[in-house]
Amino acid sequence: MCNKSMSMQEKLYCLLIYLPSLEDLLNTSMIVATTGTIDVLDDNSSTCTKVDCWMTIGSTQLYSSDRSCIRSSEWLNDRVIFAAEELLKQQHPHISGLQNPILQLTGSFEIMKKPFVQILNHAGNHWITISTIDCEPGSVFIFDSMNLLLTKELQMVVADLLHLQDHQHIVLKHVKMQYQIGSNDCGLFAIASACALCNEFNPAKMKFEQSIMRQHLLKAFQDKELTPFPHKKSRQQAISIIEKKVRIYCICRKPDSGGKMILCSNCKEWFHCACVKVVDNIIFESNWLCDVCR
Ligand SMILES: [Zn+2]
Ligand SMILES: [Zn+2]
Repeated sequence: MCNKSMSMQEKLYCLLIYLPSLEDLLNTSMIVATTGTIDVLDDNSSTCTKVDCWMTIGSTQLYSSDRSCIRSSEWLNDRVIFAAEELLKQQHPHISGLQNPILQLTGSFEIMKKPFVQILNHAGNHWITISTIDCEPGSVFIFDSMNLLLTKELQMVVADLLHLQDHQHIVLKHVKMQYQIGSNDCGLFAIASACALCNEFNPAKMKFEQSIMRQHLLKAFQDKELTPFPHKKSRQQAISIIEKKVRIYCICRKPDSGGKMILCSNCKEWFHCACVKVVDNIIFESNWLCDVCR
């Protein structure tokens, strides 16, 4: 995404990447050769022109490129995902979560203490929805229109959101849902699942009309109201769930990241060396004690 710190060359490159249609390019006068300004595409800019700004949802500014992205068959970007989450948050203020998915990149999601709904990014190219609504403590439901298992990186993100102090495991409950056709509509399924959960529906029991999901989302943004996506009742009778138990450790309550860990000789709990600031040369110290046991 474009930002103020980018060079003109980078901004131009950005402009080419993020404005998908020629129509958009022609309808705007964003490259003003005489002034050299292309601030119109700047995400943080207050100088966004009317032509490029499509609308504002909560704190999210959507651009005409986002509208084109929804209209065409493109993969939804994080701005569109968060705008949908913001609509849901406005309509369902009692539901926790619905945080900006961009926070996943910096590991700065707020810890969730109440039942929540959250859209997450899987490996940089796929959107999924997780929720703890109607889930027993220590567990989380995962709704993924490609029915993939969580990557190690995503397990860390989920553990971070839950931050389970009194559990030794997280139980990941992969709920089998409708499989998406093609590879670009995962964002729509993730939003549709989040919306269903906010409305107390189970996404696993819904068969979404994939061909009109983009239309539905566009209308939701225009109306500033996101209603459940058009669907039929799924023919699937019983809900199929694949459970995966993931051990969590340390003060951070996250799984083994593959990095170095150290064992407390008293409580026998493992800690990530980075979390307890243990330097490499004392990893094999036999009587290391954690902060609680010290
Ligand atoms: Zn840790
Ligand atoms: Zn200890």
